Amino acid sequence: MQDAADKRLKIEKNLRLAISNNELSLHYQPQLSADNKIIGAEALIRWQNPELGFISPLEFIPIAEETGLIIPIGQWIIESVCQQIKVWDEQKLYIPHIAINISAKQFHQTDFVSMIVHNVFDQKVRSNRVMLEITESVFLGSLDEAIDKMHALKRSGFSFSIDDFGTGYSSLTYLKRLPFDQLKIDQSFVKGLVDNKSDAAIVKAIIAMAKSMDLKLIAEGVETDQHLAYLSELGCDEFQGYYFSKPLPVEQISEYLLAYKDSLSIPS
Ligand code: C2E
Ligand code: CA
Ligand code: CA
Repeated sequence: MQDAADKRLKIEKNLRLAISNNELSLHYQPQLSADNKIIGAEALIRWQNPELGFISPLEFIPIAEETGLIIPIGQWIIESVCQQIKVWDEQKLYIPHIAINISAKQFHQTDFVSMIVHNVFDQKVRSNRVMLEITESVFLGSLDEAIDKMHALKRSGFSFSIDDFGTGYSSLTYLKRLPFDQLKIDQSFVKGLVDNKSDAAIVKAIIAMAKSMDLKLIAEGVETDQHLAYLSELGCDEFQGYYFSKPLPVEQISEYLLAYKDSLSIPS
């Protein structure tokens, strides 16, 4: 226990300096449609520290949330994504949207809406290029507050994806009342899809529900052509996962995008 506490303290201490020391970076993972077009990409944070080495976001994001460091880090992520969108646009690699993970603590900040709007507008990036990924944990506090914030951001042109769907409460009330654009089928169900009857049944039910609510669907954790075939058969038509590409640093994802250059032209 002492070791765990020491490590946590070390992470916290180092995380405070991670932005100013240039230790954070973003990797991007492409999202593809059934007809093999890039429809977006998800930004995923990476932290490489000289003392601690590589630390998974699964480990440091919860600490960033508890310590409030998620606020400056979240802001850094949004700024970096906007800059990257502009760089790719200049290179004529037009990605329809970049999905950004928003943690509950960030979402509940009183100035969350204005922080997002100002950052994106100040950088002259159109808001429809940014999709905000949130999980159900965001609604555990006040559902009304969440609804107000989402509507405000929707009015400003942002879109929303519900991440990890199926792993939490998955309340239909949430889904009915919240203005989501996309539902992301969690990778745990995709993993079990081929061999596990109940996972397959859950995925079928999620797809039917999303369609009846006019939500776009994307499956994450697509690793094999079997996953892809099964999901397509069930009616899911957008995918993300190692089958297509791991999350990659900017240089490598830019190369990956180059292969799709023809389908990434800027819409007139
Ligand atoms: P998530 O948002 O559910 O992200 C998906 C995770 O699945 C990513 O792990 C990604 O690398 C991984 N993944 C993608 N395709 C596959 C696949 O085909 N198979 C398998 N097994 N895994 C796949 P990662 O990057 O380690 O991120 C873990 C979690 O950390 C994320 O889960 C998210 O909750 C959080 N996170 C990552 N980046 C950010 C960020 O920028 N902001 C915030 N607030 N949280 C982040
Ligand atoms: Ca996500
Ligand atoms: Ca997820």
